[in-house]
Amino acid sequence: MNTNENTSILPTHPVHALPGIGPKRAQVLASVGVETVKDLLYYIPRRYIDRSKILPISQLPLGEEVTVLGRVERFGMRRTAKRGKARFVLTLGDETGFLSCVWFSGTRTMEKIFSVGDLVAVSGKVTLYGEKQITHPEFEILSSKGETNLLHTGRVIPLYPSNAELKNAGMDSRGFRRIIKAGLDAVAPAIRDALPETIRRRGDLLPLSEALHAIHFPSSSDEGEAARRRLAFDELFSMQVRLAQQWQRRIADPDGIAFPCVGESLAKLLQRLPFDLTEAQKRVMREIRADMKCPRQMNRLLQGDVGSGKTLVALMSMLIAVENGHQAALMVPTEILAEQHFLTTHRLFEELGVRVILLVGGMKKAQRELALKEIADGTARIIVGTHALIQEDIAFGRLGLVVIDEQHRFGVIQRKMLGEKGRKPDVLVMTATPIPRTLSLTMYGDLDVSILDEMPPGRKPVRTVWRTSSSRDGVFRFVRDQVSEGRQAYIVYPLVEESEKMDLKAAAESYEELRHGPLTGLRLKLLHGRMKNEEKEDIMRAFQAGEVDVLVSTTVIEVGMDVPNAALMVVEHAERFGLTQLHQLRGRVGRGDHLSYCVLITDEHLSDEAKMRLGAMTRTHDGFQIAEIDLELRGPGTFFGTKQSGMPELRIADMQQDAALLELARREAFALIRDDPSSRESAHQRIRTAFAKNSPDRMRLIEVR
Ligand code: ADP
Ligand code: MG
Repeated sequence: MNTNENTSILPTHPVHALPGIGPKRAQVLASVGVETVKDLLYYIPRRYIDRSKILPISQLPLGEEVTVLGRVERFGMRRTAKRGKARFVLTLGDETGFLSCVWFSGTRTMEKIFSVGDLVAVSGKVTLYGEKQITHPEFEILSSKGETNLLHTGRVIPLYPSNAELKNAGMDSRGFRRIIKAGLDAVAPAIRDALPETIRRRGDLLPLSEALHAIHFPSSSDEGEAARRRLAFDELFSMQVRLAQQWQRRIADPDGIAFPCVGESLAKLLQRLPFDLTEAQKRVMREIRADMKCPRQMNRLLQGDVGSGKTLVALMSMLIAVENGHQAALMVPTEILAEQHFLTTHRLFEELGVRVILLVGGMKKAQRELALKEIADGTARIIVGTHALIQEDIAFGRLGLVVIDEQHRFGVIQRKMLGEKGRKPDVLVMTATPIPRTLSLTMYGDLDVSILDEMPPGRKPVRTVWRTSSSRDGVFRFVRDQVSEGRQAYIVYPLVEESEKMDLKAAAESYEELRHGPLTGLRLKLLHGRMKNEEKEDIMRAFQAGEVDVLVSTTVIEVGMDVPNAALMVVEHAERFGLTQLHQLRGRVGRGDHLSYCVLITDEHLSDEAKMRLGAMTRTHDGFQIAEIDLELRGPGTFFGTKQSGMPELRIADMQQDAALLELARREAFALIRDDPSSRESAHQRIRTAFAKNSPDRMRLIEVR
């Protein structure tokens, strides 16, 4: 008989219900988020030592990161020269030889840690210093001398995240293995697998209790990986179920706005355009039309590489809202972009009798008050603005459609805030930063997605070259050549937030140098974020009108600028830009019929990562490919800049490694919610409680840059 049947410990019980855990340990465990037995079982090893892959000491390669297993032969403080610095030396041995581990600091407590005969794993880089040595290795005592507990000496040994406090309470990897074993033994009969059996089988996933056992005590690396895959699936699945629920709720709610008619204005607008819509634009418009026609709320993400013509799609959608008696708002991340969109929209819509107004932060009081009044009484039909649009005192008369451009610059919260300015207005979010599919499934998983996967005809890829500062003179000669052929150029300097002033100075100084030096005689203008709005607007207008040859600028032009005659983009200190940002900048050129160029200027000495970024820029043009490379180089945590915009924290799954698993989890979650409405609530409920700790609810507010 299994004695466990008699115990009454459940996964939801506090950890101190387990033998060997007193109040002190319980407290330390709580500090790392382990409060219940279940939390403990989900305390996942940070890595494994697979003994079958461990090299004997005699075969350790020099200069490489390795993990070594050995018995403690001897240890103690040593001092070479009379006044030399004392160091702690630990000598490990296996059947083939000896290895010294050396610590120069933190040596005070070392003597107490080890005993001769302990089995120890150390990791670090091997050097040769008389004999093989690792300095300041990471170490784990796997078992003490005489300890024959197989728990600690199996073929695959898990190592747990630990810290000084945990270690002081005996919670090193050994301690964790011991109490996790106790926890598993105690609650094994009570573990219920919330995942429907059919999904488990289809996905070739381990049963939960097996997975929880194998993640801690795998008999091989493969088994450990299979366990991790199951638990990672759970995490992704619960996230996708939540998204599917949001989606389902929206789809089932008829309480949005319907825009039934397409009147004459849209046809007129199309007639006035000097070009035809691309097939992709037509398809996307059909998708948006279908959404807008029906009374449920649209929530659509429009993805399209820079220059694919998203603005026009936004304008057409807004016109549909207006024709049906509603207002439409377009929110963009920068004032310059707001002004540019305002000008375009105003120019196109004025003759159609549609009133367009601008709302940005730096407006004069009287001007702003008038704008607010027109927004409130409905006189203004289309409102273009920055995050000034979501300020508290802004009230819309009849907001029917919200369009958010360059969505990645805004947080989830801001998207919501604008949406709440009306009664369930339709929402279209647009992004030119191609988002790797795994991320878009996560961040925008509850949205419908449209993709503009076609460039307007006649676009030639931008020829991209990478030069070091020594060839700067040649680059400026090329700028002159381009201008003499009638083209315009951008020269961009990086703007790093911490040292905004300094960078500004650098841009301003370079501007003066260029004006009086290599670019003398050309019409130059300096543009930066600290200028007054009117001043910026004037310069923008002049550049757009072809009255300026070269626009010297900080990164304020990064998003959205649209001047087809500009055919050359020079980026100074290109190594200081992220890959996505460089791609955005390059997207400012290649918008007309001319062959366009992007010249990236960097220092001679670059980090490997910078080299990879610049290499990628010269190799490819495809925004999606760039995004994938960017994700690979930076990891999902920093993909969207320093702070995250609504990315759930994943503890087990990994965005890159588990892309296929994410797709599977999404398919299963949406199928579950869509096809099985009767069991929807209960299934969801079960899954939610089962994975409560892994819930991705922690959405954070980020500021608009
Ligand atoms: P993005 O998707 O980067 O926002 P824009 O909307 O700024 O791109 O469009 C880039 C340029 O392409 C603009 O000058 C726009 O007028 C032009 N454009 C848009 N649609 C078409 C089309 N169907 N044919 C030709 N040019 C187009
Ligand atoms: Mg745009």
